[in-house]
Amino acid sequence: MTMDEKKGFRLYDTLTRRKKPFEPIETGKVRMYVCGPTVYSDPHIGNFRTFTAGDILRRWLDYRGYDVFHVMNITDIDDKTIRDSGEEGVSLEEFTERYTKSFLRGLDLMNIKRATTYPKATDYAPRMVEFVKELLDKGVAYVASDGVYFNIDKFPEYGKLSGVDTSKVEKTDRMTEDEYDKETVNDFALWKTSTPEELERGIYYESPWGKGRPGWHIECSVMTRSLCGDTLDIHAGGEDLIFPHHENEIAQSESLTGKEFVRNWVHVRFLMINGRKMSKSLGNYVTFDEVLSKYSADAFRYFFLSVHYRRPLDYTDAAMGIAQNSAARLENTLDLIDDTLRKEDRYYDFKETEKALLEAVKEHRGQFEAAMDDDLDTHSALDALHALSGAINEYLAGDVNKGVLLRAAKAYRELLSVLGLFEKRGAGVDDLTEDLIETIAQVRERLRTEKNFQLSDKIREDLERVGVVLSDTAEGTSWKIARR
Ligand SMILES: [Zn+2]
Repeated sequence: MTMDEKKGFRLYDTLTRRKKPFEPIETGKVRMYVCGPTVYSDPHIGNFRTFTAGDILRRWLDYRGYDVFHVMNITDIDDKTIRDSGEEGVSLEEFTERYTKSFLRGLDLMNIKRATTYPKATDYAPRMVEFVKELLDKGVAYVASDGVYFNIDKFPEYGKLSGVDTSKVEKTDRMTEDEYDKETVNDFALWKTSTPEELERGIYYESPWGKGRPGWHIECSVMTRSLCGDTLDIHAGGEDLIFPHHENEIAQSESLTGKEFVRNWVHVRFLMINGRKMSKSLGNYVTFDEVLSKYSADAFRYFFLSVHYRRPLDYTDAAMGIAQNSAARLENTLDLIDDTLRKEDRYYDFKETEKALLEAVKEHRGQFEAAMDDDLDTHSALDALHALSGAINEYLAGDVNKGVLLRAAKAYRELLSVLGLFEKRGAGVDDLTEDLIETIAQVRERLRTEKNFQLSDKIREDLERVGVVLSDTAEGTSWKIARR
């Protein structure tokens, strides 16, 4: 067994249609490319299912000790960006810059780890010209009046990823569009001759075939090769990219290099909205900001994690309500831990209950790891976290040895962080903030004993406004930092 195999991570591969032991080309290093957004509109919540799944994969590789080189491209030139910027009457650059920012803002709000780099397609145009030239030299592409096309008959393995059978579809014409379905399998565009509108707007690059611009599929083949080399360990994206986008990437890249293009293909299922596919025409289009105005980002993340990334997931208010409550239960344990750690130290024993807590930590960490190693089974990983949360809550109900609690809390936070949950709340507040809140709470306590409820209530409300929630219990007043 190799070092990587010993790590035990198994990942489903779309091409071979099975879970494979994950083994990168270079021991300990992973080159991973996730197809990023086409920046022609604000990202919708379906996009975030894919981005969150990519983030979980990245975080699991980090946890398993890999050095991950993570690339996500920005498609800032294609049919849609050119069309919509033209309709709006703004330059392609200004238009795509706006939606690139909107995309990055969404990543930050969802606490998605930044990739190592976000290459823009337009920055790689000269290399795309070179790539197309090489395909022509190899005889797998040809020049037509409106551009350069890839001849799919020259790549006998065409269809191996999507299962499309080229012998059963009638090849009638060349495909000029970037996007099409399996019924219209045809030679696809590598390079598109500029239209009069594109020439007028200055959207073109010089090439041996005249002024033009790259097709969508060649963009990823060129950026993956430039940044990650001939073979990627992981190439991921939404399931809608399997055909034609990824099928065409394979044809281009493998024809050029003669090497395997991707070791593991990872595809994330669509997000449904109330049982239907999301589309503007059905009127069920849910924006990202709409979700975050009703639910926390952690609840939204929890919702994605509650179902395996290759299984169907349906966005409904009921499902979001359940996710919100379940996330709150996990977070409540963090509140209880913070609260207990602020209390006086008066118990230092190591008895059966302490032993039981540390054993529970070990057991549930083991369950969590086994679940994640099994093709990122986040549903079962959450079960393990709920079990650990329950064990910690139970321990907190009795005498607490802070040393033991800190060990359990560290493990709990670490596993939550693998799923990207509650990271923004950090590990509590700093000492100065804590002392300030304590001081204010004591002043308020004094006012209450003097029956000055008007002022004590005002202090409670003012604190709540800045995110500090006080609760009065039989044992006194406790507080927590409430986040959105
Ligand atoms: Zn791509």
